[in-house]
Amino acid sequence: MKNHKWNRIVLKVGSALIAPERKGCSSRYLLHIAKFILQCRDMGIEVILVSSGSVAAGAHFFGEIENPSLPIKKAMAAAGQNEMMAAWDRFFDFPSAQILLTHGDFQDRERYDSVRETIFALLEHGILPVVNENDVVTTDALKVGDNDNLSAMVAAAADADALIICSDIDGLYNKNPHTNDDAVMIKNVSAIDQSIYDMAGGAHSSVGTGGMQTKIEAAEKATSHGLTTYIINGFKESSFEQLILGNNPGTVFAPYAKPMEEDLHWMTHTSRAQGEVVIGDGFEYPLHENSDQLTSNEIVEVVGEFSAGDTILIRSDDGKHLAKAEANYSSCLLNFISEHDNQDDENEYLHQTGPLVSDKNIAILDQ
Ligand code: GLU
Repeated sequence: MKNHKWNRIVLKVGSALIAPERKGCSSRYLLHIAKFILQCRDMGIEVILVSSGSVAAGAHFFGEIENPSLPIKKAMAAAGQNEMMAAWDRFFDFPSAQILLTHGDFQDRERYDSVRETIFALLEHGILPVVNENDVVTTDALKVGDNDNLSAMVAAAADADALIICSDIDGLYNKNPHTNDDAVMIKNVSAIDQSIYDMAGGAHSSVGTGGMQTKIEAAEKATSHGLTTYIINGFKESSFEQLILGNNPGTVFAPYAKPMEEDLHWMTHTSRAQGEVVIGDGFEYPLHENSDQLTSNEIVEVVGEFSAGDTILIRSDDGKHLAKAEANYSSCLLNFISEHDNQDDENEYLHQTGPLVSDKNIAILDQ
């Protein structure tokens, strides 16, 4: 790409591009996307494809089901994944490799490293990694849930330089372009703040523009890891032609000037809290990174079950999410300690607990 200095990119392609009619895969849009992948590889840019579409591709095997149950959707994914892989494979004269992941693969550091190593080995051998969520084995607690966020996690894990997310509209608009004639597309976003999320339709709003919310989340994950992120219209061949020319065909999100350190990024954007520690009014704000401010004296409540080393959420009594961090003690021990603290137990040992969380990677959320 003429003006882009990319060594490695992640391209996210959604179901509507792969199986537009939900009647198996169609080459209609895949053709120009495959051409883009080929052109990138010819220019020496490594490509990782994150492709949805297994459910949409497999749906036609199951007849006309109005509201398929979860097991049927998983069965559709299992049957359609083959179809989807085969659809991509048809375009390429180099091999592709299927990688099916769940959130657990990013949460567990050993599995995370294993995914990274596999991706690097594939790229080194000129094989195209094609990633999707492993829908068959996921539960609500275990899944990433959408391939926008999955693509950002893959991009961070694979040390990519850019994330390109295909959408069904040209980019991010300042308001919903389907319902507002005066909506204007934002070409450049230098920082992702609440105003950007508001444009995407807000966290719990129904006015979201084609799943823009999860695309912004993905952009935040990726840019904070140092990746340039694009949202482009994947239905238009011209989007890919413009990218090849070094132009921005949609919305580009600038990478952080100073990307987050790897472990802090993982704590902030990937790791999920296994439980919560609620702290009381007496706590002296603000909570600092690298701090030993939190001791058992501050605990009001311990929620859920977690082990030492798990990620936990530190929450204030009034519900504010303050930080995510690595627990130094299990929930069982913390419950025991805080009960005894509250009873003014004189047992010296109980009052000598060290900091509740490791000071390595405290991700400050909101204060
Ligand atoms: N994993 C799902 C599929 O292949 C898609 C999830 C998504 O598009 O966000 O059908």
